[in-house]
Amino acid sequence: MQIDGKIEGGYVIICQDEHVFVVERLGLYVECPSCGRRKIGADLAMDYVLGGSNSLEDRVPQSAALAK
Ligand SMILES: [Zn+2]
Repeated sequence: MQIDGKIEGGYVIICQDEHVFVVERLGLYVECPSCGRRKIGADLAMDYVLGGSNSLEDRVPQSAALAK
């Protein structure tokens, strides 16, 4: 499950089975209304930030990335 993009009304989420839904905001958990899968909102946000800026990865030293 991942954030596909941010829209005016919230976030567009795509789940593993290609269920697409919108949440107004990322709560503690985001739950897919189609299959019930859940993912922690903070993890979704983190994936979105990291995945949405590939150039950032190039700028972060390897040691800093491993320190997480
Ligand atoms: Zn689903």
